Amino acid sequence: MNTFQHFIDGRYLASASGNTFDNRDPVDHSLIGQICEGGREEVDAAVAAARRALAGPWGKMPAAERADLLRAVAQRMDARAEDLLGAECRDTGKPRREAAALDIPRGAGNFRAFADLFLRHADEVFHLDTADGAGAINLGQRRPKGVIAVICPWNLPLLLMTFKVAPALACGNTVVVKPSEETPATATLLGQIMNDCGVPPGVFNVVHGLGPDSAGEFLSSHAGIDAITFTGETRTGEVIMRAASVGLRNVSMECGGKNPAIVFADCDLEQAVAGTMRSAFANSGQVCLGTERVYVERPVFDEFVARLTLAASGLQCGRPDDPDTNFGPLISLAHRDKVLSYYDLAREEGARVECGGGVPYVPDDLKNGAWVEPTIWTGLADDARVVTEEIFGPCCHIRPFDDEADVIALANDTRYGLAAAVWTRDVSRALRVTAALNVGLAWVNSWYLRDLRTAFGGAGQSGIGREGGVHGLEFYTELKNVCIKL
Ligand code: NAD
Repeated sequence: MNTFQHFIDGRYLASASGNTFDNRDPVDHSLIGQICEGGREEVDAAVAAARRALAGPWGKMPAAERADLLRAVAQRMDARAEDLLGAECRDTGKPRREAAALDIPRGAGNFRAFADLFLRHADEVFHLDTADGAGAINLGQRRPKGVIAVICPWNLPLLLMTFKVAPALACGNTVVVKPSEETPATATLLGQIMNDCGVPPGVFNVVHGLGPDSAGEFLSSHAGIDAITFTGETRTGEVIMRAASVGLRNVSMECGGKNPAIVFADCDLEQAVAGTMRSAFANSGQVCLGTERVYVERPVFDEFVARLTLAASGLQCGRPDDPDTNFGPLISLAHRDKVLSYYDLAREEGARVECGGGVPYVPDDLKNGAWVEPTIWTGLADDARVVTEEIFGPCCHIRPFDDEADVIALANDTRYGLAAAVWTRDVSRALRVTAALNVGLAWVNSWYLRDLRTAFGGAGQSGIGREGGVHGLEFYTELKNVCIKL
C-alpha cells in the first residue's frame, strides 16, 4: 500500500496532523493508497523552504547552470518513464498507450522546451536623449518573481504540472505544487527525480490535499506566495483569484471550455471524423481543449454523424495495460455521477441519442469503476444546458449548419473561449473563420497539435494570460527598468 507524502525541502514528510485520505483506482475503485492531507503547517513549511532556496543556492545559480539541471531532470524523467507511466495510469485509469504517447514524454519535453527560456531572452535597451545632450540608457531586466504556487487538475497530471514547473524554475523561481487530490503519484515521484539530479532542496515542493479548507486554500491565500498559476475549473479559478487579490498577487489561469469543432463540407471527411474522435473522446473526454460541440455543414451532416457514431461505438473499455484498451474510465465515481447526470439531462432536453448515453458493459472485475459510455447527441436546442455547460466527459452534440457566418456566431455563443477545430480544404476560409473565433487556440485540420514555442491560454472565462513559448516570461518574471543617466 502506497502512502503519498508531501515533498518539502527535499524530503518526504507525512502531515503533522496525521490526516490522510484514500487514493482510488478509477478502473475498479480499488484502494491504491493513502494521500497525506496537507494543512497550514505543511504549506507554511513548503513556502518557507521555497523562500530559503530563493535566497540560497538556487537564487545564486547562473541561469545556464539552472538550464543544465532542468535538462538533467528531463533525462532522468526519460529514464524513469516506466515508473511515471505506471503511476499516472494507476491514478487516472487512462490507457497505457495514450499516456505513453503523450503524457509522459511531454512531461520530460516540458523541461527540455523551457530549460533555457530565461537564457534566450534579451534584456531590452532604450536610449533616451536628454536636454543636457549626455543622454541616458534604459535597461529592462527580468528577474524571477519569487515563490510560485502551482495548483493542478487531474486530467493530464504530469503534463500540465510540468508545463508550469519547468518555465517557473527556468526563470529562477521556486515552486510549491498542489497536485489534484485525485492524482498525487507523478508529482510525488518528481520529487525523487529532482533530488537525484541535484536540484537544491526547497526549489520544488509538493503539498498534497484538497481545495477548500485544505492545502489548496491555504496555499493560494498564503502571504509568502508571490504568484499563483492555476489550471482547473473556472469556478475554482474565481475563488483562487479572490485569495490572490489579498496582497495583489499575480495569477495565470487556465480554466474550462465548451469547445466547438466546425466541419465544412469541403473537408477531408475521413480526417475530420478521425480528428473529432480524438478531440471528443481522447482521455475519455477529459481534456480542457476537447470538443463538446460539433457543427457540421448540412451536405455532409448525416454521413459525419453516422461515421463518428460508428467509430465511437467501437471504443474498447479495459484496464490501462490491456493492449486492446483505447477508452478509459472517468477520474472518479463523483465525476462519473456528474457526467451521467448530463446524460439524463440530454434526454430531458430532447436529445436524440446517436450512441451511448449510459454505463457500458464491463467485465465483473471493472464493475465498480467510473465507467460511462462514449455518447453522441443530435437535435438539441442551441441554449440547452448540455450544449452550453462544460461536461468534461466523452460526449458531444452534433448540429447541422448552412452558412459560414451563422456557424461562427454559434461557435462564439459561449462564455468560454479556449479552443476550436476547423475542418476545411479552403485556406482562405480557414483564415477567415479562425480570425473570427473568440478562442485562445484554433486548429485547422488537426487538434491538439502543440508546438511548445507557441502561446497557450484561453479567452473569455477560459482563462487569464498566456503561457508557453516566451509568453511565460511575462508571468514568471518581474521586469525591472534601470535608467542610467550618462
Ligand atoms: P478543479 O478546479 O476542481 O481543481 C483543480 C485544482 O484546484 C485541484 O488541485 C483542487 O484541489 C484545487 N482547488 C479546488 N478548490 C480550491 C480552492 N478553493 N482553493 C485552492 N485550490 C482549490 O478542476 P479539476 O476538476 O481538477 O479539473 C477539471 C477542470 O480543469 C475542467 O474545468 C477543465 O476544463 C479544466 N482544465 C483546464 C485546462 C486549461 O489548460 N485551460 C487544462 C486542464 C483542465
